[in-house]
Formats: sequence, C-alpha cells, structure tokens
Amino acid sequence: MSLQRKWYITFMQTDSARSVSLSISRKIGHFIVIFVLLLVVALGTGTFYVWKKNAELTQLSKLKKENLMLREKLEYFANQLEAIDSKLKVMVAWEDTLRKEKKLEIIDPGVRALGSGGEPYTDPSFLIFDTSLHSLYNTVLSKLNFIMSKTNLTYLTHNEIFDKVQSRESIFKSTPSIMPTFGKVTDKYGYRIHPLYRHKIFHAGIDIANDESTPIYATADGYVSFAGNSGPSGFLIRIEHDSGFQTRYAHLKEISVKVNQKVEKGQIIATMGNTGVSTGHHLHYEIFDYRKGTTSEPSSFFDIAEQDIRVPQTAARY
Ligand SMILES: [Zn+2]
Repeated sequence: MSLQRKWYITFMQTDSARSVSLSISRKIGHFIVIFVLLLVVALGTGTFYVWKKNAELTQLSKLKKENLMLREKLEYFANQLEAIDSKLKVMVAWEDTLRKEKKLEIIDPGVRALGSGGEPYTDPSFLIFDTSLHSLYNTVLSKLNFIMSKTNLTYLTHNEIFDKVQSRESIFKSTPSIMPTFGKVTDKYGYRIHPLYRHKIFHAGIDIANDESTPIYATADGYVSFAGNSGPSGFLIRIEHDSGFQTRYAHLKEISVKVNQKVEKGQIIATMGNTGVSTGHHLHYEIFDYRKGTTSEPSSFFDIAEQDIRVPQTAARY
C-alpha cells in the first residue's frame, strides 16, 4: 500500500481561529497549476493582440488623415504652380512688348514652349499603393519641371535684353547723334566750288553759321585727341569715340577742353569763331568713320535714336 501524497489548500479567517482545508490529489493539483498558467498566458496574449490591433487601427486612421492632408497639400502646390505659370506668361508678354519697342529679336514661341508639349514626367522612384495620389504627385512634378525650364529660359532671355540694352546704351552714348551747334547750314557735305579757292573741291563736312561765340557741343562721349591751332582749319578740336568715329570741330574761337580730356555728349567744348581759312563765323563739322576709313555725311547722324543703334556681337572698339 503506497502512501498517496496530497495537496492541502487551507482557507483561514483573520479574525477567528476557524479554518477550512481542502485536500486534492497531486495530479489534480498539477493540472490546476498548469491550467491557471495556460489561462494567464492565453489572457495575456489575447490582451496584447487586442491592444496591438487597436494601436494599428489608430495608426491606420491617423495615416489615412495624413494621406488626405498630403493630397490636399499637393493640390495646393498644383494650384500655386498654376499661379506662378500665369505670372510667368505675363512676364513673357511684357518681354515681347519690350523687345518690339527696343527693336530686339522676338523669341520664337516654339522655343518658349520647349518642354511643355512632352510626356508628363513620372518619378520612377516614387512607388506608392494609392494610384490617384501617385498620379497627382507626378502631375505636380511635371508642372514643376516645366515651370523650372520656363523660368530658366526667361532668366536667360531677360539677361540677354539687359546686356543688349546696356551695350546699345554705351554704343549710343559714343555715337555722334546730335547737332554740334545751332545755326544755318551754309554748306553741305560733298563736292562744291570752294568759296575762297574758287575751284571744285570735296567738302568733307558741313558748315553751320551763327553769331560769334555760339556754343559748340560734343556730339558723343569720347576723349579729346587734338585741341589747338591747326592752320587752315583754324582752332580745331578732334574727339575720339569708342563707337569707331572721330568728330572734328573747326574754325573755333575759344576752346574749353584739353587733349586727353574725356567729354560727354552735349558738353560745351568751344565757341563759334572765324579762325583759319574762313569767310565768316561758322562751325565746320566732320565725322570720320574708322571702319570705312573715310568721312561720313554728318547730317545723317543727327537725331539718331537709341533704338536705331545696332548692337554687334562684340562691340567695336577703335
Ligand atoms: Zn566747311
């Protein structure tokens, strides 16, 4: 006869000596312990699973909200890009007007539209589950790329205008374009019978007559290369201009500039006189063109406007 071990569970009351004891077999005891342990593990796993599921659902709901917000932001960017594009179109229209006014080449609309007619750009690295969001993203990206190339081109064409206008302004300043004095044109450019020598001789400039001491103006920016008595031309000034011309002012009374002095268009350089071989108070004015190697008809230079100045690829310097 073997002694069977038993487990006792005793319940006691704290305020009395009474107690109740339960005796259970060892096998049942083991079973209860294992059952309780399994129950605890099952409840724990279940609770964890429910908590995890809940957390995932909360996160999913947040992601959905974020997704919606991102879609709205992308739509906002798309609208902003449209607004930038509209402003760019206005800037291009202004540029065309300016080009017409300044007699500059108009940019071909085909060149302007470069990049706009192609396939929409697709970012191969941006792969997402939501196809409509994917498509919206690529639309925004295509628009952005298009506006970027349009802005770059506009930047270049604006720069070109700025450079050309600046060169033209500089060439214009140094191109003879005004009357050198006020008065009556008494002799034109070309062959004539000389009033004193009485034979046909080429007159390389024009004569403008007025009262003694009428102011004489430099007809373009430049520097004085000669100022003094020249003999037959009397008191004479020669001015060199960066545009490739030399202007000559003869028979002067008083000279108010010195050799190597810089002068500006419209600056008073002398007064009208009757010095040298001359029959009265007048200015003999000549324009020498270094590129042609001859004198030019001065009256064709009067009232030249800035827009009429043609800008060469590289400004000529003489
Ligand atoms: Zn003359």
